[in-house]
Amino acid sequence: MRLIEHELLEPVQLFFDKAAENGLERREGQIEMSSEICEAVVSKKPIAVEAEVGIGKSVAYLVPIILQYFRERRQIIIATSTIALQEQLEKDVHTVLKMLGVKADVIFATGMRNYLCRSRLAGCMKKQRDRSDILLIIKAAAGQGKQLRTQLGIEVNDRLWESICIKKVGEKCRDCYYSGSCQYSQLRFRLQYSNSIVICNQNMLVSHLIQCDSGQTGIFNPSVNTIVIDEAHNLESKFRDAYSKRMSRSQFRYELISAEKKLKNNKLIKELRDMYNSLLKALRNDITIQKRNADGDMQAYYFNEGEYIKDLLFKIRRCLAELEKKLGYELSSLTFLQELCNVRKQNIIWLENDDELTFCICKKDIRKDISRMLFGKDICTVLTSATLTSGSIPEPVEKYRYFLDALGFPMDKGLISKPKRSPFDYDRNTILYISPNMPYPKHELAERKKYANSAIEEIVKLLAVTKGKALILFTARHDMEYVFGKLSNIGLPYKMMIQSENSSQKRRLNKFKTDTDSVILGTGTYWEGINIEGKALSQVIIFKLPFPAPDPITEYKMSLVKDPIMEIAVPEMIIKLKQGAGRLIRSASDRGIVSILDPRLSSLSKAAYKEMTLNALPEKNITESIMELQEFWNRINEKKENI
Ligand code: SF4
Repeated sequence: MRLIEHELLEPVQLFFDKAAENGLERREGQIEMSSEICEAVVSKKPIAVEAEVGIGKSVAYLVPIILQYFRERRQIIIATSTIALQEQLEKDVHTVLKMLGVKADVIFATGMRNYLCRSRLAGCMKKQRDRSDILLIIKAAAGQGKQLRTQLGIEVNDRLWESICIKKVGEKCRDCYYSGSCQYSQLRFRLQYSNSIVICNQNMLVSHLIQCDSGQTGIFNPSVNTIVIDEAHNLESKFRDAYSKRMSRSQFRYELISAEKKLKNNKLIKELRDMYNSLLKALRNDITIQKRNADGDMQAYYFNEGEYIKDLLFKIRRCLAELEKKLGYELSSLTFLQELCNVRKQNIIWLENDDELTFCICKKDIRKDISRMLFGKDICTVLTSATLTSGSIPEPVEKYRYFLDALGFPMDKGLISKPKRSPFDYDRNTILYISPNMPYPKHELAERKKYANSAIEEIVKLLAVTKGKALILFTARHDMEYVFGKLSNIGLPYKMMIQSENSSQKRRLNKFKTDTDSVILGTGTYWEGINIEGKALSQVIIFKLPFPAPDPITEYKMSLVKDPIMEIAVPEMIIKLKQGAGRLIRSASDRGIVSILDPRLSSLSKAAYKEMTLNALPEKNITESIMELQEFWNRINEKKENI
């Protein structure tokens, strides 16, 4: 990317020239990224920048956008994907403001469900006397202005929180007794009318953009013309989520319960309930088969509509239409099912959440919509993350192709930056082990067991090298549970832990950090949600290459391209693999091993994506020998002790 000289570049360069005085290490990649963002900000163009760990990407984009903020005094939005990153960003914004010697209003914005609704709390207190102690503490905290869940000073379980958090804002808020002291209402007002620096999550940004696109006011100030999206590799799924319409089992049941209140003992309602239960039973059976056959954890299940299901859906719709007539008001479940059955060509239909069983519909092509909202005229949209590229072709545009295509990025007018490589010394501090002994992973149950049993033998040897201190990443929960069960029974001298699904997850990770030799097994969010510096995480073991599990959305994307494996499955796998392997090195002093058990990357493999995948990883020392691995480990530990 060629840089054009302009007035913003000078103060940005001055900032980095003085960086050492401010305690910042000079990093060329960071300065380069900052200068490129300067150009995007000044010329109001979108830009995509991949910046690996250690670049200091938040400072790289904050310096130019904050300097520009003081010129234009327009609200700016910085959106990221997790609350932990939002909190980190808030600190970074204040640090940069301090270094620049300026002050600005910074808003930490989070979704309404994180806030307490004092009106719902009052209603709940009337009903639930048995919980009055907790509710009294929450009431007292709320009265002191602590209405964010994390500020209450007491742990509130998810079920209780669901009954007292804000679910909707609107008419009800206008007449609310608490509206004057409602923190969320105050936040909405500030977001709408102030020219502040806003740090929010991607869901909030996406819902603002969709509201504005459909002619509504939106959440943020309409003057916004600079948007930064950090962790942008998650953005497409956030849009897909926001565009999806859903109907869960409870929504359907709730509608029938409301109808029953009006039409007591109505035969039609009983009939509907029975038919819906039969429908759910048939779909659940089908989901069980899909899960059994899938290679990885499925997030979305196929809606396989055989004659039986088709017939049930027809009868349910007919009964709902009759019920609607009797009730004299519209039933949302009927509207939903009409769309599900009648508008098939433009939509992707899938099922989610096996317990609650939710029907989901989303229009197929959302790229044009995303493109219109994100890359409109006179808006600078910065897309950044440590993992945006998935190709090995030297041209930056080709490296980013998969990510940019999914968002409808305007290749003609947007700026595409050369990926910024990590300044950390991977050559000295890391090694990549590829297992040469593993069988090829296959779908069949017996073959999967064979793979898992061979993997266990490898894992035992690998854990002996680092004496535990490892994170083992899986693509399927059933594989993880099988391996965990076996490893736990061998009597290994390290504490074995497995990812939990509930709120004790944070505690488990803390235990992993403090019990230095322990081993933790994880899937799903563990591929990108773990940030553990130091010795406790000295080895990341990848059980299988993270190819996307089959699902209706990926299948739709695959149907649009010539080579679905190389154009969709491989780029998705590479981005996820980079995320997972990236858990190892979080700071300049981190050292360790990335081990990939999947033989599709081994020297004997003829997989077309092998070189491309290996090139995408920063670890360039590669071995297939455990002995070499042990030597490497001994060497780096000797070095550490000598320092
Ligand atoms: S203003 Fe709305 S969100 Fe706030 S406490 Fe009242 S009803 Fe709840």
